[in-house]
Amino acid sequence: MKMYDVTGAIYEGMTVYKNKPEKQPSFKTITNGYVTESRIELDVHTGTHVDAPLHMVNDGETMESIPIEKLVGMCKLLDLTQLEDRITQADLEPFQIQKNDFVLFKTRNSLEEAFSFSFVYLAADGADYLSQIGVRGVGTDALGIERSQEGHPTHKSLFAGNVIVMEGLRLLEVPHGEYFMVAAPLKLIGTDAAPARVLLFEGITI
Ligand SMILES: [Zn+2]
Repeated sequence: MKMYDVTGAIYEGMTVYKNKPEKQPSFKTITNGYVTESRIELDVHTGTHVDAPLHMVNDGETMESIPIEKLVGMCKLLDLTQLEDRITQADLEPFQIQKNDFVLFKTRNSLEEAFSFSFVYLAADGADYLSQIGVRGVGTDALGIERSQEGHPTHKSLFAGNVIVMEGLRLLEVPHGEYFMVAAPLKLIGTDAAPARVLLFEGITI
């Protein structure tokens, strides 16, 4: 059985959304005698993370509304590395995506370590298509599921369809295929997102 850890590492100076300094994590480590303790300051959208509806919808549901059962199970990783700009319905149709699938997008974002202001994103029509199918969730290898769309229609369409949004995956090493996924966000209460450890296992089917 092969395991892929598709989580981005969290450290000071890591790649953050739009390179904004205020999105950088900060670590403070204090040693007192032989006791060392660290404290971290972290945006909940740092690195690999799961978004909750509250992120884009006032009074939306918070992290604890997302059942862990939906984040553990089979997923389909789609190779979309040939796309330059965005993922549309037409790009997704050939994959015969089914209701309750959890789909991960491997795009050229996984080939780049630095933040790209032109990252490949899920277009609104692609989000509508997935929402209508009724997928469990989507995961992307960008730090955002969308950009350059007035009013954030991609996020809104996915949240309206009860589709989980996961961002910041690192998929460079992982080939197209089906995997058993364990995506475990921190069990934060009342937040609009939570950092997650995400593991993909090859050769397990349920
Ligand atoms: Zn986010």
